[in-house]
Amino acid sequence: MENCIFCRIIRGEIPSAKVYEDEHVVAFKDINPATPVHVLVVPKTHISSLEGLNGENIENVVHIHRAIKKVAEITGINKDGYRVIVNCGEGAGQTVFHLHYHVLGGTKLNEKII
Ligand code: AMP
Ligand code: ZN
Repeated sequence: MENCIFCRIIRGEIPSAKVYEDEHVVAFKDINPATPVHVLVVPKTHISSLEGLNGENIENVVHIHRAIKKVAEITGINKDGYRVIVNCGEGAGQTVFHLHYHVLGGTKLNEKII
């Protein structure tokens, strides 16, 4: 995806503060953090959203969840707890259409909608 901002980060065309990277995923700090620790975990392959998952790319979910645990360990938020959010579609507030998991922590997360 030529102009996808996260594909451009993955290709190194746009700088990012990387927290973790492996063969399948990249994790980098959100540019507009909502909490002291706010990391985005994204698959290296372009998938538009959770709705873009299919039989060909579903294994990325395992890679992403493995990486989320690594990010939580690296940043230390695994000790007190953290929240993982995926916005899927415009109605849910998704603004970047490359699948990404928000990993939030580093403070007490009081506001709950569920
Ligand atoms: P969403 O609203 O769920 O699609 O989340 C998109 C997130 O990407 C927002 O939290 C933005 O702050 C973040 N974001 C957008 N551009 C960049 C960037 N260049 N580097 C890091 N995070 C970004
Ligand atoms: Zn992309």
